[in-house]
Amino acid sequence: MNKCKLVIFSLVLIIIGSCARNPVTGKRELTLMSESQELALGKESDPQIVAQYGLYDNPTMQAFINEKGKQMGAISHRPNIPYEFKILDSPVVNAFAVPGGYVYFTRGIMGHFNNEAEFAGVLGHEIGHIAAKHSARQYRDQILTQIIFIGGLIVSKDFQKFADVAQQGIGLMFLKFSRDHETESDKLGVAYSTKIGYN
Ligand SMILES: [Zn+2]
Repeated sequence: MNKCKLVIFSLVLIIIGSCARNPVTGKRELTLMSESQELALGKESDPQIVAQYGLYDNPTMQAFINEKGKQMGAISHRPNIPYEFKILDSPVVNAFAVPGGYVYFTRGIMGHFNNEAEFAGVLGHEIGHIAAKHSARQYRDQILTQIIFIGGLIVSKDFQKFADVAQQGIGLMFLKFSRDHETESDKLGVAYSTKIGYN
């Protein structure tokens, strides 16, 4: 790849990317994933996740997480996302979210909660990841880093000597970003669960 290609690549990025205000931070940011792409990604991942773990058959519990989930989605920073909540048939204590509004709890974590407030905190944390568009931000950062990295290799021969160090630096940077996202989601989890009446 030469400089010309890099310029073209950057231009394409600017064209496909757009600037939008993040619903949580309120700041304008470059995004390479539109809301419809987020929704499409979720629709594509959901059947794979369900097939991998299977759904936990407990209508009462399912009705409960639907009720609380919809209630919290509606007061979140992205109330228009069609949130879906599922309980996976796994003993592992885990909860996670996928872009497009899909939130999963394992039967392991459902059995682990001591009270509704604990559940609400985790629910809010996962909705927080979706509301703050953490996946889209991570995706954008990965693409931008690749461009900067390739750019560095093209522009400077010296950069090649430091490529390994730079790789490690990038790794640390992403670790920090993902910690920042967890902290942001924790705050949102507290705020959202308070809003629907939990302490
Ligand atoms: Zn998290």
